Amino acid sequence: MSKKYTLPELPYKYDALEPYISKEIMTLHHDKHHLAYVNGANAALDKLENGRKNNWQGVDIKGVERDLSFNLAGHVLHSIFWPNMKQGGGGKPGGRLADKINEDFGSFDAFKSQLAGAAKAVEGSGWGMLVWDPVEKQLLTLQAEKHNLLSAQSSVPLLVCDVWEHAYYLQYKNDRAAYVDAFWNVVNWENVDQLLSKEM
Ligand code: MN
Repeated sequence: MSKKYTLPELPYKYDALEPYISKEIMTLHHDKHHLAYVNGANAALDKLENGRKNNWQGVDIKGVERDLSFNLAGHVLHSIFWPNMKQGGGGKPGGRLADKINEDFGSFDAFKSQLAGAAKAVEGSGWGMLVWDPVEKQLLTLQAEKHNLLSAQSSVPLLVCDVWEHAYYLQYKNDRAAYVDAFWNVVNWENVDQLLSKEM
């Protein structure tokens, strides 16, 4: 039987990222949106369990697998996103992460403009992501549309920027670019470095 997914606690208070991301956004985003992905993934698991019991009668397995992909990817990305940020974040990375960014992108500024550009240019709802590519052991940027489309299956997300409207609209209206620019002020580089250290 499949294990169920659970909503992680925010690693800081709802207002910790102000003025860059408001308490109202963080509260709704974590308590409502992230929870919906957890519940959606668990509902898909329940449907698959019922399908196994009933020899798949009346189960749209294609639709259920699509729901699982969408909701599980949403749960995973939000679970990475929260600790990717902190009060008093920003600045530049240090340690192994700084060296690897320089090696793979040429400079921190070149990396930053690439990831920001990817995030701003997502078509519709999605994410800009710094990922670890275990194939060539390097850092890459990727976009995700929704949570699960455009993925490279082997890639490990290290730093993710949610550009769904629910992540910024209450504060930034339609100005996604201003939100992405503000995001850099709350990045928790120590967290990103720790995630990279697990992979290298
Ligand atoms: Mn979100």
